[in-house]
Amino acid sequence: MPMTAALFALLIQPSIQQDAWPQIEASSILTHIKYLASDELKGRNTPSEGLDKAADYLADEFKKAGLKPGNGDSWFLEANYTGRRGGASGPVKSVVAVVPGTDPQLKEEYVLVSAHYDHLGERQGEGDQIYNGANDNASGTVGLIEAGAALMKTRPRRSVMFVALWGEEKGLRGSRAFVQDPPVPLSQIIANINLEQIGRTDDNEGPRVEAASITGYDYTTLTDRLIEAGKKTGVTIEHHKRNSSMFFMRSDNAAFAAAGIPAHTISTCYIFPDYHRATDHWDKIDASNMTKIVEMVTDGIAITANSKDRPTWVEGKDATKRYREAFKELYGDKIAAKGLSFSPLSEQEKRPNLLIPSSK
Ligand SMILES: [Zn+2]
Repeated sequence: MPMTAALFALLIQPSIQQDAWPQIEASSILTHIKYLASDELKGRNTPSEGLDKAADYLADEFKKAGLKPGNGDSWFLEANYTGRRGGASGPVKSVVAVVPGTDPQLKEEYVLVSAHYDHLGERQGEGDQIYNGANDNASGTVGLIEAGAALMKTRPRRSVMFVALWGEEKGLRGSRAFVQDPPVPLSQIIANINLEQIGRTDDNEGPRVEAASITGYDYTTLTDRLIEAGKKTGVTIEHHKRNSSMFFMRSDNAAFAAAGIPAHTISTCYIFPDYHRATDHWDKIDASNMTKIVEMVTDGIAITANSKDRPTWVEGKDATKRYREAFKELYGDKIAAKGLSFSPLSEQEKRPNLLIPSSK
């Protein structure tokens, strides 16, 4: 059989994957990180004027990208922070925004994507006294802005809620406050993906390029969604044998997991040279690598928000026992009844980046 031109074209097509999320760009990532980690915000301590400025900036960015306020008409979840050991107290706010789902029923369910936007503020000492926290965690916070903007253009079936949390550095206070007073019932939140330190590739254990770690790697079926997203976007999801469980309760996913929600933290580095130092500056961010990480995260959110099945905790593991119990208490029989009652995804829907463009 002679080779037709069309067949020939097909055969010589390069095997490089199409860029799944072309709207996510390194230049935009860097612009946001530069501002959030600037000396003007003075290290975003909880509570502080710099933290409030960051909150206003985030709300503004979500608004510009067309997201909806996540707490009724408000972009903020307000709380009163009480400092421990004589530390400063005062009003604080988490920033909350929503990409509304397209499915009339499933849009009542949420994938929650979180990142803490606070850092350590200023400390007395010689030289640079501002702890800018570019990687920890302006990077994760900017992940929220970029993923939110991308998903607003190709909205999934379920809703996606983005929350930038205060007070992580004070002991996961903002996420605990969220769980105590959530803007939607916790039982409507089907999963949590928390972003921490996704901007640097110079982990103390060695370079980590096109790779991300997930805490509690083998705890829930949410990991499968992220591995699938990683394959599409060229990011390896790694199982760090020790840190995976050791760090599971050390970031904001912990509060959601304790409530029963399948919840993980994604990082590129666990510990890096400038960790909790004044030198965690924006110019050490690997923005081009971070673009890939945010694409993987965005795709993982879309897969989770489109999938017929909701993520669950892995059975038969001691490490997940308490979360499985909380899971049953939180969702009850509703899961089996509601989570599986929808028609299978079409081939088109399996490619979340090609979903129905939003009407705006
Ligand atoms: Zn952090």
